[in-house]
Amino acid sequence: MKKKIFNLTLSIFCLALFLSKINMDKLQTFVGKELKNDKIVVCIDPGHQEKGDSNLEPIAPGSSRKKARVSSGATGVATKKPEYVLNLETSMILRDMLEEKGYEIIMTRETHDVNISNAERAILANEKNADIVIRIHADSLNDSSKTGASILCPAKNDYTGPIYEESERMAKIIKDNMSNMGIKVNGVFERDDITGFNWSKVPVVIVEMGFLSNYNEDLLMSDVNYQKKLMQSISNSVDQYFK
Ligand SMILES: [Zn+2]
Repeated sequence: MKKKIFNLTLSIFCLALFLSKINMDKLQTFVGKELKNDKIVVCIDPGHQEKGDSNLEPIAPGSSRKKARVSSGATGVATKKPEYVLNLETSMILRDMLEEKGYEIIMTRETHDVNISNAERAILANEKNADIVIRIHADSLNDSSKTGASILCPAKNDYTGPIYEESERMAKIIKDNMSNMGIKVNGVFERDDITGFNWSKVPVVIVEMGFLSNYNEDLLMSDVNYQKKLMQSISNSVDQYFK
């Protein structure tokens, strides 16, 4: 009788051990997956920096064509605000909006006094396994009458094969959201010559928010309510892109 009870206890013990092993394996698989897909990673690149760096870098991996590592950007005709300042102001708004919604944010810079080339910004997003890169810029032209936002995305070339379709999809989503929110937007433009696109392994867009060379649009882009509206249109687009 005692032996029977012992055997039964042993059987139950083994069964429990077996079941707990299965559960542990399942749990580990589940936890592993959860951790890996924990958060969507958005890289925000506030364009330019305080001091440009005119040393050259290849416009694509292995390319003999070279461009300046990074420039200091344009300046507002009315505000006299440098583009790198405006870009960071608005990027911070976008960062806060997306963080509040639970996205993980990588900023390529949070100060002006940095020296990070356009290729290095792309490589940073690649290495951090970002899911999308949003680069914030403002335009400038000799023609001061030109206004409106423009969305740039990579053209299909030897370097952008894996990312150009998804980049264009994001660019179109942003354009549509801007239009729907009453923001003047000139369209989506594919570009072949942008270092930060050609080095990127992650879908990437540049949002040119408007023209610093137009007096009224320069003032508008420094209006915090307009900045919030612009960034809201991008924040909504991120939600839509990952839906
Ligand atoms: Zn720029």
